[in-house]
Amino acid sequence: MKYKSYTAKTYKEIPQVQKALTEEQMFDIDVVSKVFPFKVNNYVIDELIDWDNPLEDPIFRLTFPQRGMLLDEDYETIAKLIKEGAPEEKIKQVANEIRMKLNPHPAGQKYNVPEIDGVRLEGAQHKYKETILFFPKQGQTCHAYCSFCFRWPQFVGIEELKFAMKEVDILIEYIKRNETITDILFTGGDPMIMNAKVFASYIRPILDANIPHLKTIRIGTKVLGFWPYKFLTDPDAQEMLDLFKEIVDRGYHLAFMAHFNHYKELRTDAVKEATEKVLETGAVIRTQSPILRHINDSANVWATMWKEQVQMRMVPYYMFMARDTGAQHYFGVPLVRAWEIFRDAYKQVSGLARTVKGPSMSATPGKVRILGVSEINGEKVIVLDFLQGRNPDWVGKPFFAKYDENAMWLDELKPLEGDEFFFEKELEEILGLEKVQN
Ligand SMILES: *Cc1c(COP(=O)(O)O)cnc(C)c1O
Ligand code: SF4
Repeated sequence: MKYKSYTAKTYKEIPQVQKALTEEQMFDIDVVSKVFPFKVNNYVIDELIDWDNPLEDPIFRLTFPQRGMLLDEDYETIAKLIKEGAPEEKIKQVANEIRMKLNPHPAGQKYNVPEIDGVRLEGAQHKYKETILFFPKQGQTCHAYCSFCFRWPQFVGIEELKFAMKEVDILIEYIKRNETITDILFTGGDPMIMNAKVFASYIRPILDANIPHLKTIRIGTKVLGFWPYKFLTDPDAQEMLDLFKEIVDRGYHLAFMAHFNHYKELRTDAVKEATEKVLETGAVIRTQSPILRHINDSANVWATMWKEQVQMRMVPYYMFMARDTGAQHYFGVPLVRAWEIFRDAYKQVSGLARTVKGPSMSATPGKVRILGVSEINGEKVIVLDFLQGRNPDWVGKPFFAKYDENAMWLDELKPLEGDEFFFEKELEEILGLEKVQN
């Protein structure tokens, strides 16, 4: 199948849209897509979305802008401008003002930029000792856009591709000098938007550098969810698969971190075949997703998804909390509710699917998991622990917060005792130091 994408400018050409959506519904899309990125493709349209009832369909909600993603006053502002026929420039400016209110830079990402001989590696993040994140310059877009995406500022162009890097040589030098790094994680955007030649131009130098402590190449990607034909009919399909095989043959663990939000994304012939092709190379597919209201906030969805993934020989890996950015008011699930869903799903699946961890917040101090709700001396508490910490010593120690049914993120929780959590002082010191170094 040949890839064809649609945006806010062209989506009305899609026959299913013309048939299934009313004028009002299209107007909602026009309004919301002024603020949030919108891109969809022919696979998502033809094979994933149920057009008999699109507004209830999780994949429609995952890709098409939703009315509720904007607060009423912001919706009204944009709607009015469109109705008045305001110039595009004016609408852009107002949309940007709305975007700036939506916390475009969550969770202290600006602190994680590594440095070598005084040169900042703007296309990388190194937060946890073992793993360096790498944002290849040509991998900063996606085959379609998720409506909840926390990387949305880069798609709507309010920032330069901030975390994008071309100079693979500097990266290699940095990895060589930091012997704690065992994993390099290619991320984006979606690195699988790159064709095989471009991807090889990053991968081969890394393989050829023969860095003894580097063991794992990870690729964080939604390509199996949004464009499985990448491995089936794209002109470079075989070349990409051969490159995967080469990585594996050279002794690396190739970890394909697949982003799936709903079991519907696992059920087409194309995704099943593409999964087989990727597995045949020797790659291991691990899966992850945020938990999202309106899309997958039900234990049944998660249990079904994990079971089907295991059946397809994938390894469930993470359930994330939606970040505190963009339309979190629409997609966000409270921490306690997320834990309930996680637990209800977890208890229904075989041990082979209980490799999954979560629900986890990628917050400034680290990846914090909600272990559950418990009681201490008759008082309800939330129990948390670190799955990853800026200080590795924080990991795996349960700690307590006051019970709060509505809290959506770590910074809304209060410690059970005292004014701060056990890590807060040290975190300030660590961040202070990084600022000085930068
Ligand atoms: C999640 C994450 C990683 C990888 O963590 P694992 O637990 O090893 O999967 C690395 N860096 C950052 C910044 C992350 O958020
Ligand atoms: S695939 Fe990932 S980076 Fe791309 S839009 Fe979805 S969440 Fe964002």
